[in-house]
Amino acid sequence: MFKKILIANRGEIAVRIIRACREMGIKSAAIYSDADKTSLHTRLADEAHYMGESTASQSYLNKSKIIDLAKKIKADAIHPGYGFFSENSDFIKTLEDEKITFIGPSSKSVSMMGNKTAARELMSKSGVPIVPGTTKPISSVDEGIDSAKQIGFPVLLKAAAGGGGKGMRKISSVQEFKDAFEATKREAMKSFGDDSIYIEKYIENPRHIEVQVIADKHGNYAHLFERECSIQRRHQKIIEEAPSSFIDSETRNKITQAAVNAAKACGYFNAGTIEFLMDSKKTFYFLEMNTRLQVEHPVTELISGIDLVKEQINIALGHKLSFKQEDLKIIGHAIESRIYAEDPANNFLPATGIISEYKIPSGPGVRVDDGFGTGSEISVYYDPLISKLIVWAKDRTSAIHRMNRALSEYQITGLINNISFLKSIFSDEKFIHGQIDINFLEREIGHIIESSNENNILFEDAAAIISALLKEKALVRKKEDSYYSPLKNDNNNWSSLQYD
Ligand code: ADP
Repeated sequence: MFKKILIANRGEIAVRIIRACREMGIKSAAIYSDADKTSLHTRLADEAHYMGESTASQSYLNKSKIIDLAKKIKADAIHPGYGFFSENSDFIKTLEDEKITFIGPSSKSVSMMGNKTAARELMSKSGVPIVPGTTKPISSVDEGIDSAKQIGFPVLLKAAAGGGGKGMRKISSVQEFKDAFEATKREAMKSFGDDSIYIEKYIENPRHIEVQVIADKHGNYAHLFERECSIQRRHQKIIEEAPSSFIDSETRNKITQAAVNAAKACGYFNAGTIEFLMDSKKTFYFLEMNTRLQVEHPVTELISGIDLVKEQINIALGHKLSFKQEDLKIIGHAIESRIYAEDPANNFLPATGIISEYKIPSGPGVRVDDGFGTGSEISVYYDPLISKLIVWAKDRTSAIHRMNRALSEYQITGLINNISFLKSIFSDEKFIHGQIDINFLEREIGHIIESSNENNILFEDAAAIISALLKEKALVRKKEDSYYSPLKNDNNNWSSLQYD
């Protein structure tokens, strides 16, 4: 068993990993930046180490500092969470050379799947259907136009090193292609340090369906079914659910088998996700592989009963998968809402500020994965994700009711957030009937914003009454609120966190 795991991340995912470590009797070591001196992950871990200034390059992306720390504190392994170093093959290779266990796949698998054109080529050779398009970067406008004509407009110009929904453009004609080629390349260079771009057929109104895969170091592979992640803004997910209400068991068998084949093709071990687009005829196409734990992993945990983080740790230890494929079945329905500090009415502009009041929902079937609380600051330095609200119920309709109930209990004041916007989505008839695809939000945004404004007015009335009722209890509540009281006692030396 590992004695100590260093968590090279922050926010809710660092907290999620700390919780798994604690349940497994493993000591957790957190890292933190100036902006996170008092963050929950910093306070909750068994030890916390100061990395540097808030800018990620000085702290959560400071490779040598993190590796030196792992050696100094004798950490047996590093869990990268998602983002930061989680898909950085160079970082993983250094750990492999230093004999520090990385809780994730090998650097080789990560580099095989990290470049989208290389991954597409590998998938295509391995019989996994890919979105029609090029499997090599395009080197000139003319070459690109020839390919686009063969594929058929509209096409998407995408960055080979892309991620986070950035750097893709829809192109509908030869002229548009000419105009966009250089600009897309420049953008790719600026965002990803690599100007390679390629072409994919633009799939009209598909669903985003992904499959959770997992494998040990002994060649055992399994999948944990699919997640539907079609509710997106700016090509980024905000609501995810499992299972997908769109697919039947035959399609499920096909897509999960394709996902396992994809993982086998790159010699994968640990947890990973194969993303697909699925059109209205249920034809699916490989999009990319995320070689890490996903933000939306909790929905899979709730319908499968498997703790993915613990499973990841066991795999890193060299253990076999704790279950067999045939042991798994889908139980009920789970939905996740990403609670962001952002303004849906203003093109989802990220918001910053201090959370002045924070009250999370609870009750049957409700899970909140968060890393912040009353008094926390959402800063410009990192992703504006405040928390993830995940619900489980016996079927999709009950899960939607439960999500609505839980969202109405959620109180975040002090900064703009998307809670009432999410509520409007869960009250939308088309969403309720599962009539969704990746362009759902873009199409429906007008009336969703409108009904969320109405929600807001009702919510403000209710909030004013609740706040008046709670005022006299405020002092008591503050004392009880775990976010207020330092979790460490004097012996644990809370103040030294600031200087370590
Ligand atoms: P990233 O790695 O930047 O997240 P992806 O390739 O995973 O990019 O795509 C992100 C999202 O962009 C998808 O979920 C989908 O909404 C949209 N998208 C990507 N490729 C296509 C395509 N070929 N046709 C239509 N939509 C696409």
